[in-house]
Amino acid sequence: MKPQFDSALVWFRRDLRSTDHAALHYALKQSRRVWCVFVFDTGILDPLPRVDRRVVFIRDSLVELDQGLRHLARDQEAPHASEAGLIVLHGDPLKEIPRLAQKLGVQAVFANHDDEPAALTRDAQVRGRLSDVGAALFTSKDHVIFERNEVLTANDTPYGVFTPYKNNWLKKVDDFYLQAYPVAKYAQHLAAIPPDVGLKAAKGERIPSLGELGFEATEDLKIPTGMSGAQALLDDFLERIDHYHDTRDFPGVKGPSYLSTHLRFGTVSIRLLARLAWDRRQAGSAGAHTWLSELIWRDFYHQVMHHHPHVIGHSFKREYDKIKWAHGKQAEARFAAWCGGRTGYPLVDAAMRQINQTGYMHNRLRMVVASFLIKDLGIDWRWGERYFAEKLLDFDLAANNGGWQWAASTGCDAQPYFRIFNPISQSQKFDGAGKFIRRYVPELAHLSDKAIHAPWLLGDLGDAVDYPAPIVQHDEARAETLDRYAVVKGS
Ligand code: FAD
Repeated sequence: MKPQFDSALVWFRRDLRSTDHAALHYALKQSRRVWCVFVFDTGILDPLPRVDRRVVFIRDSLVELDQGLRHLARDQEAPHASEAGLIVLHGDPLKEIPRLAQKLGVQAVFANHDDEPAALTRDAQVRGRLSDVGAALFTSKDHVIFERNEVLTANDTPYGVFTPYKNNWLKKVDDFYLQAYPVAKYAQHLAAIPPDVGLKAAKGERIPSLGELGFEATEDLKIPTGMSGAQALLDDFLERIDHYHDTRDFPGVKGPSYLSTHLRFGTVSIRLLARLAWDRRQAGSAGAHTWLSELIWRDFYHQVMHHHPHVIGHSFKREYDKIKWAHGKQAEARFAAWCGGRTGYPLVDAAMRQINQTGYMHNRLRMVVASFLIKDLGIDWRWGERYFAEKLLDFDLAANNGGWQWAASTGCDAQPYFRIFNPISQSQKFDGAGKFIRRYVPELAHLSDKAIHAPWLLGDLGDAVDYPAPIVQHDEARAETLDRYAVVKGS
């Protein structure tokens, strides 16, 4: 088949890989010459602190993406393969993408869907500006298995409850939705990058350094980056997946996959993961069955955000916006203690220190600390949502919002407002021997397995132990929360 376009551009955003990639597949299949670009978006980067783990993750992953593209070009004997690879720009994509499209003279730009409200606005504007320079923008689903209106109720309305959504998802999924988008067989169309295009990195480097992007190095990331990092985590997880349902809730145990950051930045394909989980599930693995459900939660929250964009900034259940949250100096001081891991509740503090030190937090602990902030401290869930957005390496607008609204009982299929996690019994149940607490709250490491969950019961810990007394009493806080939520009782 003759390619439809003489030349095209693939714009990478949250899909930093060179295999099983929808936009890359379509561009290579339909065009005679294809260039690839990533834009470090100054609108996103400029407000960030100068040390940011996500920028490190992205930058390191681009090094591999560039290599991956060059290897593909070389293996398929593309003309001038050694000059193929990734073009990197630093600026405003609204200007940079149309400018590059014009400079290269492409007729088409291919990208994968990004359904975050701000990204949809950006893409609509880019589409308009591209048409001014004679290029069209084509976008495809890549980030999830099912998006937008693909899984609806029998009445063609979006699902508001997870279990029927999941059942329909499982009914609908088949080889078509799980198959990879092949890239290699069309890679001879990868074109050489003209010498005057893209940022110039320091000698010997093809991707600009952190310093060149205006950032400082951070201490080592705790997870491996790029496609090879995702593959290493996946290989490790596949050894453990069959036990996932038993181990996933215990933060002191290596239970989950730790693939969330790779899913966020697309260094691994969701189709590959869902296919592996599906096959293992069909073969009877209870762990794979549960893990696939977690991947479906990810799709679920993406479609919630698509159908109900008001969830960004507001409760999904609008009447919950009537709740009056704690405010003023005391609330601010308590919020600061929560952020800093100094609430006096060891499991909450260990979890907050984990996110601060590594950019990751175990799922069970995300639920525990969110519940604590909202229902023990009476603080608006949006404060916690914002803090996670700053700190999480895997920060994803839809999943983070869904998680916070679940904990706050304001969300779609959230836990009922009167269900309030007890931070002590959560600690006893999920970190019984205090293994996780000891790792992140070393000042309590000497306490017994029994005492470590509620050290204040021991009385004075002594001057040598710098650990705060609890900043609130759980039972009193619980009663206040029930009063606070009385405005939505019955709704
Ligand atoms: P695994 O247990 O191995 O799960 C596999 C994958 O399934 C995850 O990588 C993730 O992509 C998806 N997943 C798992 N649980 C959920 C869930 N409840 N909702 C949506 N997707 C899920 N996840 C994010 O990816 N980004 C966030 O910003 C985020 N914020 C959260 C905030 C709160 C308050 C809560 C309660 C949960 C949040 N989650 C978020 C969901 C979940 O905690 C993380 O996806 C998970 O801990 C990541 O670790 P993992 O990759 O080892 O997960």
